Amino acid sequence: MPSHSLNRVLSRYGTTIFTTMSALAMAHQAINLGQGFPDQDGPEDIREVAARALMDGPNQYPPSQGLPELRQAVAAHNARFYGLEIDWQKQVLVTSGATEAVASSLISLLNPGDEAVLFEPMYDCYLPIAQLSGATARSVRLRPPDWALPREELAAACNERTRVIVLNSPMNPTGKVFSRDELQFIADLAIRHNAWVVCDEVYEHLTFDDAQHIPLMTLPGMAERCVRIGSAGKSFSLTGWKVGYVTAPPRLAEMIMKAHQFLTFTTAPNLQKAVAYGLAKDDAYFTQLAADMQAKRDLLSDGLRRIGFGILPCLGTYFIAADYSAFSRPDEDDTAFCKRITTGAGVAAVPFSAFSMAAMPGGTGPLPPEKLIRFCFCKQDTVLNEALARLRRYLLKG
Ligand code: PMP
Ligand code: GLN
Repeated sequence: MPSHSLNRVLSRYGTTIFTTMSALAMAHQAINLGQGFPDQDGPEDIREVAARALMDGPNQYPPSQGLPELRQAVAAHNARFYGLEIDWQKQVLVTSGATEAVASSLISLLNPGDEAVLFEPMYDCYLPIAQLSGATARSVRLRPPDWALPREELAAACNERTRVIVLNSPMNPTGKVFSRDELQFIADLAIRHNAWVVCDEVYEHLTFDDAQHIPLMTLPGMAERCVRIGSAGKSFSLTGWKVGYVTAPPRLAEMIMKAHQFLTFTTAPNLQKAVAYGLAKDDAYFTQLAADMQAKRDLLSDGLRRIGFGILPCLGTYFIAADYSAFSRPDEDDTAFCKRITTGAGVAAVPFSAFSMAAMPGGTGPLPPEKLIRFCFCKQDTVLNEALARLRRYLLKG
């Protein structure tokens, strides 16, 4: 069959690195610090609300925009944590995970010929979805160890065709949290070029030390041009639920809703009820979530550092960037190294190159020179300690 009979964008993509590394980890009984998901389910009371709602029903299609109680909870959450005044009826939409929220947003904001600006290292779904929308992507590469915003490069990447900037803060896989100053720079550019900004803020409650998550939407003039995306998967350690939520100005929310209605239409009603309950949890829940995760960050990064990895600062998300130069064989790239420790040490990680546009279809330019891999630390302490023991044994042979 001629290849042009299938979608030209998707034909060029393979299986995601997360699926690939999880399958390899499974096949080798490795501890999976690759794909990002907690190894313990989120709060029991939230799961109980979901279970009860499943039995009590109704279990039929909820409204396409989402259950009113969840949309109200999202608006209240925006007001409580960020002082945002949101009209839940006009500005909030429930999606099947943040992934669908990103997809519905990009599809509804982009036209063929438009340009989307993406920051590298980038989460894997942004580029293919922008390409499926017919847009061209321009990438702006942040560089380790501090991943500072390269302002001149960003300014140079924006032009009259720039329709969307995609911003992920706290940022997967770098662990960077954008500063107010950097956000102001992005805001000024978006205003100057009349661009929308799709803000993937799924790790909003996972910030550490003194880092503070600031939604771009809270900056002057940005409420009318930002789409803010959250996920119950991250905020409640329930990644399999795939409940996401979008906050956007009314005109954008209406457009995103149109894409959403044709992609998934709606999301499981019992899960929506439970997430509404979760979002109303007191501040202590969210503070404790970050504190627990910070302790895990410290456990894993201290252990990796002692083994000989270079550890980059991590102020948010549940991922650590580790430099494996000390253990690299000649000509061994990051993917080969991740596969080697998965099969050899029994610990899986994810290569940073997977987040690089140069490694993605349609991407250009050389791969970044750094030797970085990503470890996920939202695991039980015993699991993290066992992973460290395995890596120590394998890499230090003793
Ligand atoms: N954005 C980022 C940056 C992520 O890391 C993830 C995945 N964990 C998602 C979006 C997808 O979230 P969801 O599972 O809610 O679709
Ligand atoms: N967001 C998760 C990660 O970065 C993966 C989610 C997925 O597998 N699609 O590891």
